[in-house]
Amino acid sequence: MQKSDLYRALPKVDDILINDRIIKILDKLPNDIVKEAITKVLDDIRFRIKNADESVLASIDLSMETIISEIVSVSNSNFEDRLKPVVNACGVVIHTNLGRSVLNKDLATKAIENAFRYNNLEFDLENGKRGSRYNHLEDIICKVTGAEAAHVVNNNAAAVILVLSELAKGKNIPVSRGELVEIGGSFRIPDIMKISGCELREIGCTNKTHLRDYEGAIDEETALILKVHSSNYKMIGFTENPSIADLSKLAKDKGIPFYYDIGSGSIADLSKFTSFDSPIDEPTVREALEQGADVVSFSGDKLLGSAQAGIIVGKKEYIERMKKNQLTRALRLDKIIISVLEQSFKAYLDLEKAVKNIPTLRMLSMSKEETKERCDSLLNILARNAENIEYEIIEDYSEVGGGSLPATKMPSFVLAIEHKKMSAEKLLKALRDYQTPIIARIKNERVIIDSRCLLDGDVEIISACFRGLDA
Ligand SMILES: *Cc1c(COP(=O)(O)O)cnc(C)c1O
Repeated sequence: MQKSDLYRALPKVDDILINDRIIKILDKLPNDIVKEAITKVLDDIRFRIKNADESVLASIDLSMETIISEIVSVSNSNFEDRLKPVVNACGVVIHTNLGRSVLNKDLATKAIENAFRYNNLEFDLENGKRGSRYNHLEDIICKVTGAEAAHVVNNNAAAVILVLSELAKGKNIPVSRGELVEIGGSFRIPDIMKISGCELREIGCTNKTHLRDYEGAIDEETALILKVHSSNYKMIGFTENPSIADLSKLAKDKGIPFYYDIGSGSIADLSKFTSFDSPIDEPTVREALEQGADVVSFSGDKLLGSAQAGIIVGKKEYIERMKKNQLTRALRLDKIIISVLEQSFKAYLDLEKAVKNIPTLRMLSMSKEETKERCDSLLNILARNAENIEYEIIEDYSEVGGGSLPATKMPSFVLAIEHKKMSAEKLLKALRDYQTPIIARIKNERVIIDSRCLLDGDVEIISACFRGLDA
């Protein structure tokens, strides 16, 4: 067979376009996607013919059936959603790369319904005039946190920029060297301060900063005292930092505000319903305010367990200034997010229910015994008829994640998995390549499936995937 014969034997585009399966997929997908796939598949075959040795020429499959199948598969894969659900089997509850907090479906559905209709986003129903989108949130946030006033922007990084720009532009801020942190690879306190137009005055040492370091650094050009929660790391040993109460007293004495970027921002006292392996040394938002912080900011999608947002609470005089700042317009929230946040904060009015219904809280409060029960039932399904895969339930730890409580681990039972014909790395990749990707982790050369973060339907996905891999 000559190469020129093969080129000639390629199906014509016109013939492809009248094939039944192509007509069907043209019905389902945009024309351009299918046409691109046709061009790509034919180009690929031409390329293979061009580069093929005489010996392999005969093996190039030019049957209409094969080519159509390839076109259908390329079309589908090019039109697949890029952002899609995955199974969190790695046991990190607030996983920034996996979308941080999961929303309760009923709550989110209720919220999104406002987007299917017109709504009173910026309309004051009482007087029929223009209203503010932030009014929907302020009362409920104040009720739940005990704050005097509240404001909300796109995320906590934006909140920090807004607070600093409004309260500290052109002035200096003393910050402990132990708090010059980087969070999430892109949020660095020194850079954020630069963006916000304020000058950083480094004080103290990495492990120790005393109240007198703050006292000595404050002058007429000092805008405020800033404390940054070292969310994603923890120093242990010979360390010292002034308490929130001491810092707020000093700020009051000097006549400047005290701003605490608390980061993860837990509303509920986690120690009441969790069984972590170490005490939680992080104040709730309410405690930070009670201990004297004038302004506190935190994320919506970390320990709060809601949508991405930056929530600013504190004294009315400061919050009112931030609402009027031009940045607020640029950092403003979408109506769907406002609605999700409203529903989430309302859920906190009944903490016992919130712990059950807000997925983040539910996962954090799951007992070790419950993770054992979950592993037992998963093992029951997976180990049935297993041939090449070995499963064992072992003790391990889940993590909070999201730069929250870095030193706190949650004792859990997990499934340790070994495939007789595949390395752990290869198995990990195969799980990730599954149609609904499964994100697991490796420990001691075995793949670990942590059941703590599994949601409704995940067990079925995992068992179908492993059934395929065992074949
Ligand atoms: C996470 C965090 C931020 C950034 O918050 P985002 O909501 O991710 O923008 C800022 N400060 C602290 C202390 C944090 O923990």
